[in-house]
Amino acid sequence: NWYFDKDADLAWVEGKTIGIFGYGNQGRSQALNMRDAGLNVIVGSRSDDSARKSRDDGFETLPLAEAAEKADVLFILVPDEVMPQIYEESLAPGLSAGNTLVFASGYNIHFKYIQPRADVNVIMIAPRMVGQGVRDTVVAGTGFPSLVAVHQDADGSAAKTMLGLSRAIGSTRMGVIESSFEEETIVDLFHEQFGSLHAIRRALEVLTEAGCSPEAAMLEMYASGEVREIGQYYVDHGLFGQLKLHSRTSEYGQLVYARGKPEQEEAHKNQLRAIVERIRDGSFAREWTEVQANGMTAMKEAQEEIENHPMMVEERKLYERLGRFSS
Ligand code: NDP
Repeated sequence: NWYFDKDADLAWVEGKTIGIFGYGNQGRSQALNMRDAGLNVIVGSRSDDSARKSRDDGFETLPLAEAAEKADVLFILVPDEVMPQIYEESLAPGLSAGNTLVFASGYNIHFKYIQPRADVNVIMIAPRMVGQGVRDTVVAGTGFPSLVAVHQDADGSAAKTMLGLSRAIGSTRMGVIESSFEEETIVDLFHEQFGSLHAIRRALEVLTEAGCSPEAAMLEMYASGEVREIGQYYVDHGLFGQLKLHSRTSEYGQLVYARGKPEQEEAHKNQLRAIVERIRDGSFAREWTEVQANGMTAMKEAQEEIENHPMMVEERKLYERLGRFSS
């Protein structure tokens, strides 16, 4: 089910105090959009830096726990991995019956890292848009889509509150689609994990093995900026519809030749199915929790390894030559 402006009334949320917890990518944009929509928005912040930013933007800004006491609707817009701790320490003590918790991702509720008390509403409005885009598309008048869901309806108002808030952040203009915390978690993690960056890295390795220069390989695969244009073609013309903007040779190569034999297709789909399975059965979430508990060693090792990878050393040289970042 899709919902649009016509299905959502701001009156369902007017008069409530909206608390934004985490004034970062999503927090700032959503706060500005909701204030422009006429809602009463306050910000909860832990640090001087982000508090200064939100005060400069004109928001009443309080320590997290004080803002939690004051807010009727709490948007939890801190990184997913720190959310359970912030929730327990600073937000949960300030909750009252009938408050509404708003998540922008399904992760912590789906995996039960956060289990809110039964007398609060728990909803999700998960923008399919980066934080800056949440602001820019609304200012430009187009808006952005979101996945929305009700996890807990404590007082019968959760769905209306969800739609009213979706309108206030500017998402019902393009439309919000009814989803679930589980579905959002699966598609979000799958998109991150299905391996596009490593597929490109492997392609670079193979092209240089074949005698191509790293520069030619990188420019072809991503570094020229052509992929940005092609990404926009996907959005404007559809995944395969955009092929009509390429040469006939390119169209044949991408549409027909790259498809591979049915058994290759099935083998690749089996790898993808395994990714979904590891998300669904919680293996990924457990691994990620362990990595964090162990001081992020696995992440640091991988960061170091990729930094020293011959292709990434070549990338730095190319980017310096092109006048981009130098480290
Ligand atoms: P950010 O990485 O921008 O972080 C937001 C804020 O969290 C920061 O400003 C920081 O405040 C605060 N913060 C970080 N660590 C802590 C901590 N330990 N204690 C208290 N505050 C902390 O988050 P995002 O906006 O990217 O993500 C917020 C939510 O939105 C997540 O659930 C994410 O999954 C979801 N989401 C994000 C999208 C995106 O494009 N980024 C897209 C769709 C959904 P300070 O300045 O005080 O350090």
